[in-house]
Amino acid sequence: MSAIITLGVMGAVLGFGLAYAAQILKVEADPRIAAVKDLLPGYECGACGFPGCLAFAEGIIENEVERLSDCKPGKDQHYNAILAYLKDHPNKDGSHINVKK
Ligand code: SF4
Repeated sequence: MSAIITLGVMGAVLGFGLAYAAQILKVEADPRIAAVKDLLPGYECGACGFPGCLAFAEGIIENEVERLSDCKPGKDQHYNAILAYLKDHPNKDGSHINVKK
């Protein structure tokens, strides 16, 4: 009986510890990444050289992508929508992401 109580207490303590650590160590993702991903074709094909559309969007926001046309299935409508979005959503310091069509 005492083993069950001990394991229960240990589980509760570890659970609260993990919940607290998750709050402290939480990393806020740039909301522009998800917005740009939604503007991509969404085929998850990897033709851009990234493992998927989310990674490509992350690359755009982190200035690792030079040309949106690296997304091979993308069309002008996708590229123009992303460029317009990025123009309206600059970096925190006011600078703009330097990516070309
Ligand atoms: S090439 Fe375009 S559609 Fe394919 S994974 Fe990359 S971003 Fe997504």
